[in-house]
Amino acid sequence: MTAQNAESPKEKCGLFGVFGMRLDAARLVHSGLWALQHRGQESSGIASSDGKKIYCHKAMGLVAQVFLEKHFLDLPGSMAIGHNRYSTSGGSSENHCQPTIDRHKLVALAHNGNLPIVEKLEKFLKNIGFNTSLLNDSEMMCEAIGFYLSKGLTLGESLRKCYPLFTGAFSLLIMTKNELAAVRDSKGIRPLSIGKLQGGYVFSSETCALDTVGVKFVRDVKPGELVIVNQKRNLTSVQLALGQQRLDIFEFVYFARPDSVLLGKSVYEVRKNLGRNLAVDCRIQADVVVPVPDSAIPSAIGFAEILGIPLDHGLSKNRYIHRTFIKPAKILRESGVEMKINPLPGVLKGKRVVVVDDSIVRGTTSKRLVKKIRRAGAAEVHMVISSPPIRFPDFYGIDIPNQEDLIAANMTVLQTQRFIGADSLLYLSHQGLIDSTGLSESLFSTSCFTGDYPIDIGERRSEIKKTKFK
Ligand code: AMP
Repeated sequence: MTAQNAESPKEKCGLFGVFGMRLDAARLVHSGLWALQHRGQESSGIASSDGKKIYCHKAMGLVAQVFLEKHFLDLPGSMAIGHNRYSTSGGSSENHCQPTIDRHKLVALAHNGNLPIVEKLEKFLKNIGFNTSLLNDSEMMCEAIGFYLSKGLTLGESLRKCYPLFTGAFSLLIMTKNELAAVRDSKGIRPLSIGKLQGGYVFSSETCALDTVGVKFVRDVKPGELVIVNQKRNLTSVQLALGQQRLDIFEFVYFARPDSVLLGKSVYEVRKNLGRNLAVDCRIQADVVVPVPDSAIPSAIGFAEILGIPLDHGLSKNRYIHRTFIKPAKILRESGVEMKINPLPGVLKGKRVVVVDDSIVRGTTSKRLVKKIRRAGAAEVHMVISSPPIRFPDFYGIDIPNQEDLIAANMTVLQTQRFIGADSLLYLSHQGLIDSTGLSESLFSTSCFTGDYPIDIGERRSEIKKTKFK
């Protein structure tokens, strides 16, 4: 499977890496991955080095299932990188667990993001005698770096050579036996932060995982920057490309944990603002505001606060079932919602209910929820969404599927309201979304809402139709 394949997994993953001094790096990475479980639940893996050799353990499943005590005996050393992988369609397979290691066993790589264009990379690898047909984008990147390392180049030199071959969204952690590197694409689509450890450094997709392991946040890896921690635990930085920050705004909407900080802004506070701005456009008379747990809770708090309507937890969530999205088949996705969320009739019965969710993708979740809430006795069910309609697919590593599956690309708001069976449906405006961050729109990629793709998506553009809906 190549990254060109529309059915290939779209990875929206969690990365954590450590290069410390006289410490069991794999255990620290394990704690970091635990805190980043929300970024990927399909597989997990850690690669470590003791300066002599790269070791690796990875498997399908949650962090808690993949790592048993015995595995840490085989992950020695004070340097390690880890990866939680999330994918939905097609390639749910052990082969694609990360970190991935090159054929020379010189480098381990963990990737968050997706390369929509791999032509240059494929051509390069074919020229050096590789059969790329079985490799995904992350594996191709790893083999290209491994090739240069095998020719005697340093990690820094190898990355400098390879960087122009990578077109797409990538936050990478890359490890040789004795150096650890962190790299971001020139638009910084996916997050990656640096933390300082006594005698070393830590890298994490989100700051919440730095807090968890008691590591001080230093700064983000800049768009287009390569940061290397060498054997002496010195950190050096070089700009591989001119960087221009365009963080995926969907990190604020849904993906990141509320206790993380992105671009200096608390995700929790931004989500509250999303709810506040949504309330400004809301004309609904209602008795109770009910968040869809967990991601919509902060927005619902902001929404209820502005409208002066009481907030109550009318939907109870089973926290031990993974995100409904993990099921590739529609029927399983639907039963996932069924198993995951249960309404509380005591809160809902006879009430005019406003349900707050963070987004509508296919419409499956909202439709199920409205039905359940009505069954629980609600008098009216109004759906409010703390992001604009998602009309365009994602190519940068979060699973927003083919455009034909996106309800807002195929139906008007009124049609969507009827489809989900709600008494009304309100989305946040684009301006409301931007204002909620307190930052300039120029710092973001808003591609799934606007169809404006800041990194070239090449032939994948043919998959996008202009939508007739505004
Ligand atoms: P859907 O049922 O397809 O409309 O999905 C909407 C639900 O999925 C919402 O409750 C969101 O919280 C959640 N969601 C939105 N985006 C994603 C994503 N990229 N991956 C997994 N879940 C998502």
